[in-house]
Amino acid sequence: KNAGQSTSLNTEHSAANDPKNLRVKLVLLGDSGVGKSCIVLRFVRGQFDPTSKVTVGASFLSQTIALQDSTTVKFEIWDTAGQERYAALAPLYYRGAAVAVVVYDITSPDSFLKAQYWVKELQKHGSPDIVMALVGNKADLHENRRVLAEEAVDYAEKNGMFFIETSAKTADNINQLFEEIAKRLPQRQSSSS
Ligand code: GDP
Repeated sequence: KNAGQSTSLNTEHSAANDPKNLRVKLVLLGDSGVGKSCIVLRFVRGQFDPTSKVTVGASFLSQTIALQDSTTVKFEIWDTAGQERYAALAPLYYRGAAVAVVVYDITSPDSFLKAQYWVKELQKHGSPDIVMALVGNKADLHENRRVLAEEAVDYAEKNGMFFIETSAKTADNINQLFEEIAKRLPQRQSSSS
């Protein structure tokens, strides 16, 4: 099934004939307040600045990373910017997404349940070869942890997701998150000779 590489997703969102310079749409999902905007700002600008949040409409930022084999991956990052509740818009939002990053807050069991809801949505409406990451953010607040890493690992494994805990505040694992995603892109794997 993976051999063909003929889905519209790949031709539309990687720079079609250039497997060394990929461009991918990445969507962020998760409850409001789990730190999605902060993760993006940490990754793109290297800052933790909760006040610079976009409040109207969907925001869009991009960032390119280089991997060791000299592949570059340009992430076009879509953040819901507080529009999480407009479920009717979701299929448009997922459309053409090669990557989905589903975020919860390790101090909030509710946000972990909400993450599972988004995973189901992606399984229903997302591209079948979408790369999904499960992210437990606010790892710096481990003293208030209420979602066990083991529980999340288990859930991620069952759903074919990559799992990592991050802190947008301390920058812990933020770059690693995007590097691990880049390594898992099917476009990239098919291009290695
Ligand atoms: P979003 O609604 O998912 O985009 O969440 P935001 O990025 O706006 O963050 C919501 C709140 O969580 C803000 O007050 C941030 O300061 C805080 N926050 C985000 N990431 C972290 C983190 O890694 N650690 C801690 N302690 N707070 C965070």
